[in-house]
Amino acid sequence: MASTQKEQPNITTERPPIIVVMGHIDHGKSTLLDYIRKTNVVAGEAGGITQHLSAYEVVHKDQKGVNKHITFLDTPGHEAFSAMRARGAKVADIAILVVSAEDGIKAQTLEALSAIKESKIPFIVAINKIDKPSANIEKTRNELAEKEIYTEGYGGDIPCVPISAKTGLGVPELLDMMLLVAEIAELKANLNLPAEGVVAEAHVDPKRGISATLIITNGTLKKGMCVVAGDAYAPVRAISDHTGALIEEATFSSPVRITGFSKIPAVGSSFKTASSAKSARVLIDVHCSSLAPVSPNTVVQTDVVIPLVIKADVLGTLEAIEKELAKVTHEKICWKIIQQGVGDITENDIKSASGSPDTIVLGFRVRIDDNAASLAEKLKIPVETFAIIYNITDYIEKVIKERAPKERVEESTGKIKILRVFSKAKDKQVLGGKVLEGMIATGSSIKIVRRDTEIGKGKVLELQQQKIKTNEVKEGLEFGTMIESKMEIAVGDVIEPFISVIR
Ligand code: GDP
Repeated sequence: MASTQKEQPNITTERPPIIVVMGHIDHGKSTLLDYIRKTNVVAGEAGGITQHLSAYEVVHKDQKGVNKHITFLDTPGHEAFSAMRARGAKVADIAILVVSAEDGIKAQTLEALSAIKESKIPFIVAINKIDKPSANIEKTRNELAEKEIYTEGYGGDIPCVPISAKTGLGVPELLDMMLLVAEIAELKANLNLPAEGVVAEAHVDPKRGISATLIITNGTLKKGMCVVAGDAYAPVRAISDHTGALIEEATFSSPVRITGFSKIPAVGSSFKTASSAKSARVLIDVHCSSLAPVSPNTVVQTDVVIPLVIKADVLGTLEAIEKELAKVTHEKICWKIIQQGVGDITENDIKSASGSPDTIVLGFRVRIDDNAASLAEKLKIPVETFAIIYNITDYIEKVIKERAPKERVEESTGKIKILRVFSKAKDKQVLGGKVLEGMIATGSSIKIVRRDTEIGKGKVLELQQQKIKTNEVKEGLEFGTMIESKMEIAVGDVIEPFISVIR
């Protein structure tokens, strides 16, 4: 890292990019990650790679010949749409969307694309397997354009690099492109801050205890500090880098392994560091007190619950679905998973769903068997199957909207300032005013607002402009009006016409 700047406080330094590789299964994500690891990782002093962390760091010369670091999240390919990848996109600064030049765009390519777009990070398309005789780069780029992924030269500016993850052809150019995109993204961090970042992986070692791979996104991690991730913490006694070598300190964007956590930290959660165990406890307290309202499943004061039975093709997906669903919240309605499992939707699932009213059965990349389908029809239990996670959340959002208790709310259609009071007789007042916003119409119900507080209600009986009766007056214009209200309206009051809507 740029150690020359270390002595200067509060100075931000260029931060190496953290890269996530995404794409459809079998399009070559693991092959690409393996190739880059094998050809670019600088082995540590410990003598080569002794452990496989879920992230690694490489050094690549940029186009000016300067050595630059790049960190890769090394998540296994079969976890393509697992929780780690969903979270991975958030840790990462840049995504590589791997698309096979043989097969073109597939379901998970699009799913990966939605995840990338959602996390709002820049991405590079890597068209892979170009060494294969049936590879067709042009066709793939056209297909990408059809899906609104406009690459350079094909109607847009998304960088696109043809590669062979197997032979390495084009991989140096892909690495160049990563550095270029990183430069544009202007990734910065401060060496003088205590380290913070994300937990990439955690596991229990029977001999050494709980260890975790952390990716530092800012600051410096030193021995003697205390790492806090959620309600788990670990005193930093030893830091090992991604090659297994023991190091004294580490900075962004390095992956490191720390052992000795008090409990297993959640993968994908963020971590902070404290200078001592005592201040670590303060961080944990803050974390715990902020915990309560996050999960919709823990919201008890909501009025309506939507019970869900979820079946998915693999375990990792269930976790990913739950995580996505956790983002769907509503103040009056929540969902609750009453049962979940792996495999097709069976009669048993429908039976479980029939136990509580209003249950919905959701399937992800699974089928519903015939008996289950007819039972669901008989019991009128909705069963929906999906191939894209985000369609599930869209669907649940729609259901929540439909099922949320309806409320009558008053929606203001304008704002009027009262400039003059002409006369008062019983409940009827003749006034002059100006439309500041929106409009006012004869027959409108109104709120009377004085110093931002509603003081009464009324109704517009008549409107006049230049002494001519009119049905409505638009923004910016002055008018005379007769208003019915028990409240005496004064100069300077604001009148807000409103309509009642059911939401
Ligand atoms: P993942 O599921 O996306 O991680 O895909 P893998 O990396 O496991 O690759 C799937 C298959 O495609 C493996 O058999 C790889 O050897 C093969 N493969 C990946 N990249 C290339 C490539 O560039 N050229 C060729 N010929 N085969 C490749």
